[in-house]
Amino acid sequence: MTNNKKQIPMVDLTAELALIRKPVVEMVTEVLDSGEYILGEKGKQLEKLVAQYVDATYGLGTANGTDALQLSLMALNIGPGDEVITTPFTFFATAEVIAQVGAKPVFVDIDEETYNIDPSKIEAAITKNTKAIIVVHLFGQVANMKEIMAIAKAHKLRVIEDACQAIGSEYDGKRVGAIGDIGCFSFFPSKNLGAFGDAGLIVTNERELYEKIHSLHNHGSSATYQHATIGMNSRLDEFQAAILLVKLYYLDIFLHKRKEIAKRYTENLNNNDHIKLPPVSENREHTFHQYCIELEERDKLTAKLKNNGIASAIYYPVPLHLQKALQYLHYQEGDFPIAERTAKRIMALPISPMLSLHDQDYIISTVNRFVEGND
Ligand SMILES: *Cc1c(COP(=O)(O)O)cnc(C)c1O
Repeated sequence: MTNNKKQIPMVDLTAELALIRKPVVEMVTEVLDSGEYILGEKGKQLEKLVAQYVDATYGLGTANGTDALQLSLMALNIGPGDEVITTPFTFFATAEVIAQVGAKPVFVDIDEETYNIDPSKIEAAITKNTKAIIVVHLFGQVANMKEIMAIAKAHKLRVIEDACQAIGSEYDGKRVGAIGDIGCFSFFPSKNLGAFGDAGLIVTNERELYEKIHSLHNHGSSATYQHATIGMNSRLDEFQAAILLVKLYYLDIFLHKRKEIAKRYTENLNNNDHIKLPPVSENREHTFHQYCIELEERDKLTAKLKNNGIASAIYYPVPLHLQKALQYLHYQEGDFPIAERTAKRIMALPISPMLSLHDQDYIISTVNRFVEGND
């Protein structure tokens, strides 16, 4: 049944490369010929341009988004005995880094509209050991930053934005990453701004934090072979920086395409009681890293799409409080009902700047036939 039909993937990175191949090859060649492969000019330029893009004072490249988060916790001196509040409905790395620095991840259920941490439930989770909140802007949808920043201020907590899926997303006209104390980006290849390998970046407006992370990401050194603290080796690769400079140039065009595709889905997908489409709130600019729908018969629709040559994905099938690696925290099924329910019902449809209107129409009609019960 599937065989001679075309396949529509979740993302098509080679199609994206075809568009920008020439400048990418030129930039990579420049790095090759420069003889400067670690902590060179391309990385510095990218740090400056990404910081400018999100309107932050400082930018600093890291090896990946996970390290960006971990370095942020380290710079805030968060470790054993400390608690960090975050969402159970995110990629594992968000909570992993909290455990990695020896602190305790404390989960708070999500809001069913945005899939992000529910601010009204944060205060009940704050204890005398709480040091920070890691806010995730899942799928490119911004969390309720106004309420979260107010709670953080009232309780003297730091806010780290896990903006790994959300570069360019806005809240009240401000780009994410520069709203909290530190913002973390991932340039994993499939992210909205993706390298051709691993890469990440932090932004902040605080000079002291920037300097701390600057030292920490390069073995805690302030001058060559002088090590003031225990750090990491987590530097942004010069080749990836060069590629990202080209891709940053196209970022707004690609984000615009994503938003158009999302709008087209929302306008054309059959919106009845059986399916929930992603809402976009007025004061937020959603960049649609993923276009997620919710329905009871999620697994049946997944199979149906697969049979028709259409890829789909589940982000995320298991909330973090139910992950084996975090069993030691003693959370149980039922602790975060919204995250648990969402994990059973959510699925992502293909969305990428390269998705053709023709392919999208085919996806829409296939989903609509299923939702109407004709198939
Ligand atoms: C991708 C991602 C990360 C980790 O980024 P890497 O670059 O893969 O290390 C962290 N948090 C979220 C929400 C992500 O989507």
